[in-house]
Amino acid sequence: MKLRWGATTDVGMVRQQNEDSFHAEENLYIVADGMGGHNAGEVASALAVSTVRSGARMGIRTPDQFRELVQQANTAIYTASLDDSTQSGMGTTLTAAAVVPGEEPRILIANVGDSRTYLFRSAALTRLSVDHSYVQELVNEGIITPEEARVHPRRNIVTRAMGIDRNVQVDVFSHLVRTGDRLVLCSDGLVDEVTDIEIARILTEHSDPQETAEALVLVANTNGGRDNTTVIVLDILDDISAPIVLDEPDETQQMPVVIETPAPQPATNKKGRFGVALFWSALVAIVLGVFTVVGVYARSGYFIGFNDQDNVVVYRGRPGGMLWFQPTVDTQTSLSSKDLPEYVRREVETNREFTSSGQAAKYLMLDQMPIVDVSTTTTSTTVAK
Ligand code: MG
Repeated sequence: MKLRWGATTDVGMVRQQNEDSFHAEENLYIVADGMGGHNAGEVASALAVSTVRSGARMGIRTPDQFRELVQQANTAIYTASLDDSTQSGMGTTLTAAAVVPGEEPRILIANVGDSRTYLFRSAALTRLSVDHSYVQELVNEGIITPEEARVHPRRNIVTRAMGIDRNVQVDVFSHLVRTGDRLVLCSDGLVDEVTDIEIARILTEHSDPQETAEALVLVANTNGGRDNTTVIVLDILDDISAPIVLDEPDETQQMPVVIETPAPQPATNKKGRFGVALFWSALVAIVLGVFTVVGVYARSGYFIGFNDQDNVVVYRGRPGGMLWFQPTVDTQTSLSSKDLPEYVRREVETNREFTSSGQAAKYLMLDQMPIVDVSTTTTSTTVAK
């Protein structure tokens, strides 16, 4: 298998330091986005890269081996943070791709945090890694859309990072690769500034991987460059040794499932009194059915609003009520309007709707652990970058 790659990192337009680290060589590609005060972010991301790199010298063959290596890197960062008080609480994200050549060449992706690995194939951009972030959890549960997540004020809160705890859960994905595939590994500095559509456009416009990586960083900086940006572009070239194999089903690109309902059977009416009785029974059934459907719909939703004391309440029902169904109080919170950030206050005022009480609670962070800044703690796994 022949590979070609390009990589670049940039401090951006706002920050003073670059806390990202990366590594790119034949069979291993890593991007790490560090966090923590006193240069500790740089230390954490560099340690993640160097530990995985030295452990991978003999090549990575299996998901378990990759996972184990990333866990070793986690231990190295965690131990270093305990040994030096100026590095206390440092952490990093990591997204890494290991190329496994062979009859069926594949790529293993290890991921912790919100740096990403994308696959660009047949002009379509797919995320191979899943972000460990607060906004991704909201997207998974259908509380916000991916578009809302991109500009969400809490988009930089990661729910998993390396070096914060003694152990870390590592996602490893395995994908078959084929000629013409292009992989992009990047820190969130890219995706916060550049939409997936724009990334795909730039990937189409440039063929040289180094030029492509630099073009992506340039656009991130042009759009604001509010964070460090690191990009690796890896091309799988055409003299691939193995035959092209069919892809595994890719959840992110599956067609929506269409459930076919059988066509209603014509009623086998008989004439006379039986037919009349059937007509009235059907009518009553329809009226009851409509009543039930309206009732279920009217009571099925939840929304948030302020009560007379200006406290946030989760209501069950539809804003303003529906026919004879009025909303009822589901959860009374002690959150007052002055405690809320401006964007949440607006959502409460406009009665944002949810499909469950739990979703509303999650949106209001009623069930979240306190969000803490990584520079002030070593115990929490929910960290604000
Ligand atoms: Mg970043």
